[in-house]
Amino acid sequence: MPMTSPAGRPSSRPASVRARDARWRGALAVLEEMRREPGVTRAGVAQRLGLTTGSATEITARLRELGLLAETPAAASGRGRPTTVLHPHPDGPVVIAVDIRQEDWRIAVAALDGRPHVAEAGAHASREPGRVVAVIAEAVRRACERHGGRVRAVSVAVAATVRHGGVVQSAALGWDAVDLTGLVPDPRLPLLVGNDATLAGAAEARYGAAATAGTALHVTIEVGVGGTLVVDGRPVAGAAGAGGEFGHLPFGDPALRCPCGATGCWDLTVDGRAIARHLGEPPPRDPRSYAQAAVDRAARDAPARSAVGRAASAFGRGLAGLINAFDPDIVTLGGFAEPLRAAAAPEFGTALADGLMRFRRPDPPPVVAAALGGDGALHGAAVTALDGVLTEEGLSAWAAGRAG
Ligand SMILES: [Zn+2]
Repeated sequence: MPMTSPAGRPSSRPASVRARDARWRGALAVLEEMRREPGVTRAGVAQRLGLTTGSATEITARLRELGLLAETPAAASGRGRPTTVLHPHPDGPVVIAVDIRQEDWRIAVAALDGRPHVAEAGAHASREPGRVVAVIAEAVRRACERHGGRVRAVSVAVAATVRHGGVVQSAALGWDAVDLTGLVPDPRLPLLVGNDATLAGAAEARYGAAATAGTALHVTIEVGVGGTLVVDGRPVAGAAGAGGEFGHLPFGDPALRCPCGATGCWDLTVDGRAIARHLGEPPPRDPRSYAQAAVDRAARDAPARSAVGRAASAFGRGLAGLINAFDPDIVTLGGFAEPLRAAAAPEFGTALADGLMRFRRPDPPPVVAAALGGDGALHGAAVTALDGVLTEEGLSAWAAGRAG
């Protein structure tokens, strides 16, 4: 995943440091269980991790002292000893997740359970990069102020191609390279930047519809097509993080030049721009809203129904190519992809089946709606940031900060 990571240091540390870090292993395992299943009980965690009641109690007590976890009495289940429900500590570490989309932005705060809670949102008054960064930076600063020293990272999901942790190009926002470092109020605070579709796919594989899959393919339509292949919970994002640009596979019309610079991109055949072209209308300013409006009127408007069907067919055909290439256990559809499929299921289904290699047709992977919906990118940004916090180094730094 594209990012500038606060974690991942080389293991050439002195033995004394490694021994000190080892004490975090039980704590990390307990916190990961709380993250995997919000509302989990101490008894449930002990059972899953194979801990005795005594050692589970000891670990959670230490995590309470460190301000990492809180416990409340669990409702009596009728059997067994009383237990507690594990929650993130109300004064514990948090990360700030930012989602920059074509038309608007949101910021959310997530505690150690990883679930983002939206704190502020707004529409772009202008897509001029400096203006967008300045407005969101103010919101991030306010969130940091509200949470004191608890903020451990700012993690940004952006509708853009991200390479080496920076934005290099965005058709949706009309950006070339944009510097997002101004989003953090303090340069010591780690800033992580990732492509929104990649992050949504990562979240879907962690908490969503692909949570049990070893190899998951996430495909989303907003302006064009994005997504990611996720293998064992990790997005396959290439050497510099700019992989997963499925929309720029040449599945489209070679006569059409894409804003990315290439010709024949799949992007141009599946979204609101494609539907407008089929209807002989000018390119929409907001292709996502335009596409949704076309779907809404397709039931009573034959030309709109036909245009939506052509887009769904182009989507199904390309998706078959990705399935042939990647052999996923499951495909999750985000953004406009699921409404498009639902609006023209026969065209989508026929194109998908026709594009699959013969041996795959009796047993194709399930193609399902993403479970996290429009919040996938925010979830993914939080997931990535917490992966850096929930490490031995991350917890040691938190504990040292409290002691200091
Ligand atoms: Zn392109």
